[in-house]
Amino acid sequence: MRIVFFGAPGSGKGTQAAILKNTFGIPHISTGDLLRGHVARCTELGRKAKAVMEAGQLVSDDLVLGMLEDRLAEADAKPGFILDGYPRNLIQADALGALLARIGQPLDIVIKLNVPNEAILERCAKRFAEQGRKDDDPEVVRGRLAVYAEQTAPVAAFYTRAGKLVEIDGVGELASVTARILAAVESAA
Ligand code: ADP
Repeated sequence: MRIVFFGAPGSGKGTQAAILKNTFGIPHISTGDLLRGHVARCTELGRKAKAVMEAGQLVSDDLVLGMLEDRLAEADAKPGFILDGYPRNLIQADALGALLARIGQPLDIVIKLNVPNEAILERCAKRFAEQGRKDDDPEVVRGRLAVYAEQTAPVAAFYTRAGKLVEIDGVGELASVTARILAAVESAA
């Protein structure tokens, strides 16, 4: 099963992907987590990405694609994966299509979690208080929502045309959202 989780920052992609990876026994690959790992380890990529991430902007397409390609080449991703945080613009969507075609692993489904901006601002403010992620600062979140609207949201139409997009209401109890996602994945399988 090859799944992309799609949606605004704070829409619950990471939370739901972490739950579903156990259900399906496939890895949860979050480009945000991978990038934060590089920042924490002070790798060359991490040094390049840090300021961009803290400002809520997108890290360059080439850097993220190279990192993702390496991750998808690992053995645990052979039976499938849940991708979270990629693609974030149309260039990345094209690059992902080409990469997956090359490795013979086309996507099964793209799940878009719909959450209104007011709820997102609340969730990120809470996460900022709990975890102190610099890009969860309310001012930065507003900027990330703008980046999402301008660059990432158009990717949804790309996957609608490909017949892969399923929209899910991301508001409500965590378990209810998980149940909606599972139902969508089962009907796509
Ligand atoms: P969220 O889903 O809450 O926005 P992420 O952990 O997915 O948070 O991403 C955090 C930051 O990492 C992004 O704001 C961006 O700077 C960087 N990032 C993650 N994925 C990508 C990507 N596919 N392309 C470019 N930058 C990315």
